Amino acid sequence: MAKLYFRYGTVGSAKTLNLLAVAHNYQQQGKKALLLKPELDDRWAASTIRSRAGLEKPADILINGDSELKDELFHNIDCVLIDEAQFLPPQVINRLREIATDHQIPVICYGLRTDFRTGLFEGARRLMELADSIEEVKTTCAYCNRKAIFNLKLLDGKATLAGPTIDLGAEEKYLPACHHCYYEQLEVKPTHAATLPGNR
Ligand SMILES: [Zn+2]
Repeated sequence: MAKLYFRYGTVGSAKTLNLLAVAHNYQQQGKKALLLKPELDDRWAASTIRSRAGLEKPADILINGDSELKDELFHNIDCVLIDEAQFLPPQVINRLREIATDHQIPVICYGLRTDFRTGLFEGARRLMELADSIEEVKTTCAYCNRKAIFNLKLLDGKATLAGPTIDLGAEEKYLPACHHCYYEQLEVKPTHAATLPGNR
């Protein structure tokens, strides 16, 4: 049970809702789940883990590149839950790997696999490398009924590849999309997208 998990999905795949449901279950059983999130996510309130469905819980720890995550934080903890894990630096993922093994507690990371240009996030890459269990949280493309695998960025309602990779915007700025629709929506085509394998 003491595994490092990476549960990845596109925007709108209810990852945070899933995280909050797991936290609730632990709480119902009188167990303690520790909630972590990267410090840079300031979409709603800096210290709140909030799902698009409206549910929220306060984060216990905000993590940045300097966070040590000392052992005493994890005594008497039954589970560690992390939101927006794609934004964590690799050294923090390395530390989470140690925590799962040394403290024998499940460490469950939720996050995006890739950015809106289809590139792996740094934190997602390290999780893919170190996690015991990699699970996809699935959702449907915003334009058709295929499974979404990409995050399409919209600027003033138009799909775009422009802007910074880490741009935590409002809900309407990113949509889940399958490969076909992602490619169709973009006026300026990504050079690599044509060579990507098609979505099943
Ligand atoms: Zn589609």
